[in-house]
Amino acid sequence: MSDDPAPGAPLRLFNSLTRQLEEFRPIHPGEARVYTCGPTVYNYPHIGNMRAYVFADVLGRTLSWKGYKLTHVINITDVGHLTDDADAGEDKLEKAAAENAQSIWDIARHYTEAYWSDVKALNIRGPMKAGMPEAAHWSIATDYVPAMIEFAKSIEAHCYELPGGLYFDTSTVADYGRLARAATEDGEGRIDAVEGKRHAADFAIWRKTPPGETRQMEWDSPWGRGAPGWHLECSVMSGQLLGFPFDIHTGGIDHREIHHPNEIAQNQAFCHSEASGANIWMHNNFLVERSGKMSKSAGEFLRLQLLIDRGYHPLAYRLMCLQAHYRSELEFSWEGLQAAHVRLRRLAKAAANVHQLAKSDVQVHDPRLVEILAKFDEAIGDDLNTAVAITLIEKATAFKTDDASTAIATMDQILGLKLLDLERDNLRIRPKSAQISEAEIQSVLSRRLTARAAKDFATSDRLRDELAAQGVEVMDGDPLGWDWKLG
Ligand code: AMP
Ligand code: ZN
Repeated sequence: MSDDPAPGAPLRLFNSLTRQLEEFRPIHPGEARVYTCGPTVYNYPHIGNMRAYVFADVLGRTLSWKGYKLTHVINITDVGHLTDDADAGEDKLEKAAAENAQSIWDIARHYTEAYWSDVKALNIRGPMKAGMPEAAHWSIATDYVPAMIEFAKSIEAHCYELPGGLYFDTSTVADYGRLARAATEDGEGRIDAVEGKRHAADFAIWRKTPPGETRQMEWDSPWGRGAPGWHLECSVMSGQLLGFPFDIHTGGIDHREIHHPNEIAQNQAFCHSEASGANIWMHNNFLVERSGKMSKSAGEFLRLQLLIDRGYHPLAYRLMCLQAHYRSELEFSWEGLQAAHVRLRRLAKAAANVHQLAKSDVQVHDPRLVEILAKFDEAIGDDLNTAVAITLIEKATAFKTDDASTAIATMDQILGLKLLDLERDNLRIRPKSAQISEAEIQSVLSRRLTARAAKDFATSDRLRDELAAQGVEVMDGDPLGWDWKLG
């Protein structure tokens, strides 16, 4: 391990493996190699899923900001993920394809594109984002099936065959389940899910297609025709694209219990080592919603597009995520989103008043702004404390100088709120369902202004009520100067 922390405040991150904060020290000097478990593309992502990628994006941006050359791999799972993480149920993509009478490849393509569209709307760095550095490498699971078969062959000594396929014997590796603080026998009754499993926690490396059935996605292997187990892809792609050991592995907190312990077991077997394969394992907590609208099986669920259709800017959702620490549970509510939207608007308006200089090579000289930047660095270094970081960017907007503009641009490289680019008009809450056009609103508003100038308050009030009847709230004296909003 190298000993070259980046200049500035130390970057301390919470390692789920040791359950403590650890200073980031890169394995390869000057480089950071990160793997993030990506989406299973059988349906649209919900906004909870997107919280996981906003978190991973902030981590990646932080490492770049600190000067590390970042290699960030995020996978797309288009095969192998069963409806139950613990080897039970059907393949999520096969199921979606059957329900929609579509080819599995079309399903995967459609939902991958939907996912990328959310990624772009949330300003998550990735290869599809024009003008952005290629910050993330998106690897598709089905491209790696031959590599998965080779990996499985090399760990065969840790496996046993059952009629259903090849299973990993979790008792053959040291300290299985240490990430979840679980033991081999803590399988939540999973031992019955597959007959013949030696331990509850043992899991499929390869699933054979049952006799008489055909799957849309299947490959030949030494253990019969079939498909890889879900956990295999992440070990294979992370090992191949980043090399073992790599620096940081991320995912949602649910992965701390099954998926990541299983990846670790595979990595241990493959590397003939007790080490987990990554130095730091990081997990974002869940976005929760009381009425059950996060569940994809509950009909209409909380997609980013629903937020946009209701008139909210997608970056208001990004800000909502950043207002909470990534390790805390975050409760979604429309009121909370509205508050984040208003805060974003306030920030964008304040930033627009600051001179638009923002050349990345310009130094900040004002000692008060230098201090804000140092505090920002400290906050981010404190396990990505974005909640505090936002208050510091707010402070910087109070300075109306070119220096402030540079400071805001510098901090926004991590927060990714596009503060210097956001158009004021795009930040008006404007539900898709609204019938009235902007031109009509403006025309009524200008008639109302004339009436008010003539002290004809009766007409002014009537026009205001007319707009209210069409869902337009007139905001006289709004400190943000927004004049009106659609509610
Ligand atoms: P999936 O597509 O189901 O594999 O999930 C993609 C990512 O979203 C994983 O990292 C999950 O851990 C994460 N995730 C799922 N539900 C939530 C949620 N409600 N809040 C935050 N992250 C989530
Ligand atoms: Zn994974």
